[in-house]
Amino acid sequence: MGGSRRMMRLVIVCLMGVLAVVQAVSAATNVDSVRLWRAPDHTRLVFDLSDAVEHKLFTLSNPSRLVIDIKNATMGGALSKLDLSNTAIKTVRSAPRNGGDLRVVLDLSSAISPKSFMLKKHGDKNDRLVVDLFDRTKPIEKTVQQVVQLESGRRDIVIAIDAGHGGEDPGALGPKTGKRRLREKDVVLAISKQLASLINAEKGYRAELIRSGDYYIPLRKRRDTAREKRADLFVSIHADAFKNPKARGASVFALSRRGATSETARFLAKKENEADLIGGVGSVSLDDKDAVLRGVLVDLSMTATLGSSLQVGDNVLKSMDSVARLHKKQVEQAGFAVLKSPDVPSILVETGFISNPDEAKKLNSSYYRKNLSKAIFKGIKQHFQSVPPAGSYIAFVKNGGDPKLASSSGREHVISRGDTLSAIARKYGVTISSLQKANSLKSSSIRVGQRLNIPRS
Ligand SMILES: [Zn+2]
Repeated sequence: MGGSRRMMRLVIVCLMGVLAVVQAVSAATNVDSVRLWRAPDHTRLVFDLSDAVEHKLFTLSNPSRLVIDIKNATMGGALSKLDLSNTAIKTVRSAPRNGGDLRVVLDLSSAISPKSFMLKKHGDKNDRLVVDLFDRTKPIEKTVQQVVQLESGRRDIVIAIDAGHGGEDPGALGPKTGKRRLREKDVVLAISKQLASLINAEKGYRAELIRSGDYYIPLRKRRDTAREKRADLFVSIHADAFKNPKARGASVFALSRRGATSETARFLAKKENEADLIGGVGSVSLDDKDAVLRGVLVDLSMTATLGSSLQVGDNVLKSMDSVARLHKKQVEQAGFAVLKSPDVPSILVETGFISNPDEAKKLNSSYYRKNLSKAIFKGIKQHFQSVPPAGSYIAFVKNGGDPKLASSSGREHVISRGDTLSAIARKYGVTISSLQKANSLKSSSIRVGQRLNIPRS
């Protein structure tokens, strides 16, 4: 009796061993961590995985939830640490399901459109599952206001500033400063914000930040946003690394002709882009032109755009010579996807090599970043001073217009610290809404250094 019982126990132990092995093989994938980024129009969740997974996404209502089912996975990351403020997500929870599967549930506070995709293992990054939650309540574009501004003949020259990388993509990494390594995405965002505040403080100019926080924007979206904002210039800011840590110096890039040519083809292939192109090729309507002529027109626009890009790039490079060591003395050309706008002159400024310890140190200093931004803007101003866009305030003044007439009453108020819109309205005896209208303000938020046109009371 005792012998057979021992035998039985042995069989059970063996079986359990087999089961354990089966489980170990099938539940191979671990969610090592979960990260979150909030962008102006969506929230991105990134699941860092030990291996590629199969997953399913679906929404449930009453209460509103987004469910992410991941096959053969376990949760190793801490969901409670995610900063959910200002997102559509109220809470995140997870639980095992069907034995080895994992279910992640997001409780939602507002409507979203979810999208998900896998990112393959790349460099030092493991496989990742990316879930984007696009906000449904998109702010209305201010196109009408911009058109009104255009017609007034005193419009601002719009500079779109694109801080490279962001969010999931840190860009190039510099040497360690303090606890962690200097990251290109942080350095270029700081420079971009500095540049934007200089531009906004200058009458006749306005800056639009393509990226204003730590999140990623696809390259094509960056240049499309610049076109939507009716930018007169697109400036992409970078601080890349090179294999050789001794490599140093700033450089300015414009698109290479070859890149432009292939992009023409791409633009023509994309039927939905035609509407954008019509606005871009001057007043010429492309609707009734055949494909060949359309190609020629877009090509002409691209050639003109490239010419302007090279001119403004040359001004910026020469101006930067006073604060930074230059990598090359002339504007270089390459097929950067972010520069491939058919109608917005675009340059890419490499502010320095973050891989060079000396330059990394400089790029990490706000003093240097300010000087660098000043030099970049000086170059931009020189360019637009010599060829101001038609209808702009700069063109108006250059052509002998009285700067005082540029605002509707000739009065202007420069915002200083502590100013509020209501206090300014009281001071000049006008209403808040007339102030907003005269300055195309969408809200009551104003910034120090901003110039407001004071309408007639
Ligand atoms: Zn870069």
